[in-house]
Amino acid sequence: MSPEPTAAVRGARPTTDRARPPRPSSKPNGQWKIDGTAPLNGNEEWKQVDNGLSVRERIEQVYSKGGFSSIDPTDLHGRFRVWGLYTQRKPGIDGGRTATLTPEELEDEYFMLRVRIDGGQLTTEQLRVIAGISVDFARDTADVTDRQNIQLHWVRVEDVPEIWRRLEAVGLQTTEACGDVPRVVLGSPVAGIAADEIIDPTPQIDEITDRFIGDPELANLPRKFKTAITGHPSQDVVHEINDVAFVGVVHPELGVGYDLWVGGALSTTPRLGERLGVFVAPELVADVWHGVTRIFRDYGYRRLRNKARLKFLLAEWGTEKFRRILETEYLEAALPDGPAAPQPTSPGDHVGIHRQKDGRFYVGVTPLVGRISGPSLAKLSDLIEEHGSARLRTTPHQKLVILDIPEDRVPSLIAGLDALGLSSRPDLFRRSTIACTGIEFCKLAIVETKVNAAAAVEQLEERLAGIDLPHPISLHVNGCPNSCARIQTADIGLKGQLVTIDGEQVPGYQVHLGGGLASPLREEAGLGRTVRGLKVTADGIADYTERVVRRFLADREADETFA
Ligand code: SF4
Repeated sequence: MSPEPTAAVRGARPTTDRARPPRPSSKPNGQWKIDGTAPLNGNEEWKQVDNGLSVRERIEQVYSKGGFSSIDPTDLHGRFRVWGLYTQRKPGIDGGRTATLTPEELEDEYFMLRVRIDGGQLTTEQLRVIAGISVDFARDTADVTDRQNIQLHWVRVEDVPEIWRRLEAVGLQTTEACGDVPRVVLGSPVAGIAADEIIDPTPQIDEITDRFIGDPELANLPRKFKTAITGHPSQDVVHEINDVAFVGVVHPELGVGYDLWVGGALSTTPRLGERLGVFVAPELVADVWHGVTRIFRDYGYRRLRNKARLKFLLAEWGTEKFRRILETEYLEAALPDGPAAPQPTSPGDHVGIHRQKDGRFYVGVTPLVGRISGPSLAKLSDLIEEHGSARLRTTPHQKLVILDIPEDRVPSLIAGLDALGLSSRPDLFRRSTIACTGIEFCKLAIVETKVNAAAAVEQLEERLAGIDLPHPISLHVNGCPNSCARIQTADIGLKGQLVTIDGEQVPGYQVHLGGGLASPLREEAGLGRTVRGLKVTADGIADYTERVVRRFLADREADETFA
């Protein structure tokens, strides 16, 4: 069966976008099924010699005993990532030197460690273990990321085996948390509990992670591979910017299942994903995911790393060919045509107090720009248990959602959360601001992010107190041209760079405006635009945002949204 014409269905995207396939040339693109598997660059070479999964034994047996200086450089800068380990930036190196120093000159002997939390699903026991690791081995650091992970810093290689032992004892892992592998599976933070859920994606998330995470057959992909699955009508997993995504829908004849999207990703050449127009029954999700992942492994471009994401292959093939290859080469049967999900009617960040389908409540809270600490996480575990629950979720918006609170315990929980600095009020910029790691720890960063963004939120709360915004305006802050904080899908996106003020280069940001994902405010996702020449300095975020907000309110026509 062929898909419906994609331009005619809501949510479909034309295949011409900013991520264009490489121009035809005499050089092969490094597609294994077409060009053969001979490695065409250094990264492809080490991945083929020995993929990242195998470095674990060396970390446990050799490097943790010999210390940082004993680590083989190829393991350090390549294979370590597959276990969620990146060297962090040396303190004190300013952004002006990022481009002039080698990664080795920029790097410290300490690591960032990423704990993958598939579906964002955590127990208080697991949270307490992460808190303990943070306190014992990571100088109290803990950041909730916009991919539902928790990242720790200042980790020494000597401590990694003990960290893994503690994590794995409670069912957590760092396996394939970074690198050219299937990364954490984003899942609806309200899976299995929301009263208005279409389908609970937890069994599908579990099946994918149980069957395929740590599978050597999938441990050498052309680049990173991102997955998202939701069955909630708010479409709360930023599905449009994942390599593969499943969005809950109701098929008029086949019942509940998923709408399949492929080929989304941001970075410096952003491209929104596209619907293939198929309906995926819940029991087929893991196999379809496996098929899409193997298409990427076998046909993805491997010659140039900046052209290696799945979006470039989709740009060349288009959705019709992608579907045909998936059905004929990777699945045993054609998939039925399927409907698109309707426009969301509620925001997908889940901030605030909401009734669950079992009558208890879930409470979404905001760690400011995702930053929290080990001691706070330990106190949060205690607080949740004192209120009769043992479950929480991380979200793709750097938030936390506390589950299963009896109605009469909600006010006391809210007071306890406030005391921990975790607001459940839908305060405008506190709720809608996210920031990437930035210059504090990231070797690619040019500018500080979290501290600047948090300061801006606090200033905006003061300056805009009493102002009635018709809807949240999202503010996303990146420390470099990559897009870890999704600047192209924000109302206001700030891209870190040096800006020239009075002839001097100072840290600042290029402004992007008008992006967003599908939400109650916009029928479908759209990428923001760079406003040429519009830059703000690192300490000017609040000034600029305040001006934009006041201008929007003054000039706005009835019902006009910021987008
Ligand atoms: Fe680092 Fe740049 Fe990503 Fe921020 S956007 S975390 S600075 S690579």
